[in-house]
Amino acid sequence: MTVAYAALFGLAFGSFVNAAIERIPRGESLMGRSHCDGCSRVLHAWELIPVLSYAALRGRCASCSRSIGMRTPVVELGCALMFAAAFSLLPVLAAAAASAASVAIAVAAGVTLEKRSLRS
Ligand SMILES: [Zn+2]
Repeated sequence: MTVAYAALFGLAFGSFVNAAIERIPRGESLMGRSHCDGCSRVLHAWELIPVLSYAALRGRCASCSRSIGMRTPVVELGCALMFAAAFSLLPVLAAAAASAASVAIAVAAGVTLEKRSLRS
């Protein structure tokens, strides 16, 4: 059961990682509601459920149909897998530390890649 909860927390942290990857390279705050980059509409709560919202919306904004991109569900699922693996293989404190480290690494790598794509 702990592994299932860890995966759910991983999905939530994956959503945070995506927000950080989107906002940090653009100098935007990590606080505040998520919005569509195409139409600037603030997203509803049901549009922020990791993976499920992406699937329900078929990868597009509900208002302007702009593509959300595969990175969003891939990062969310990747974080869920990392959290589940950590909590299935390690003692709880070590798993929590490994999960936190994996989030930090995912943010650093994602921000670096996003900055490169913004430059080109
Ligand atoms: Zn939109």
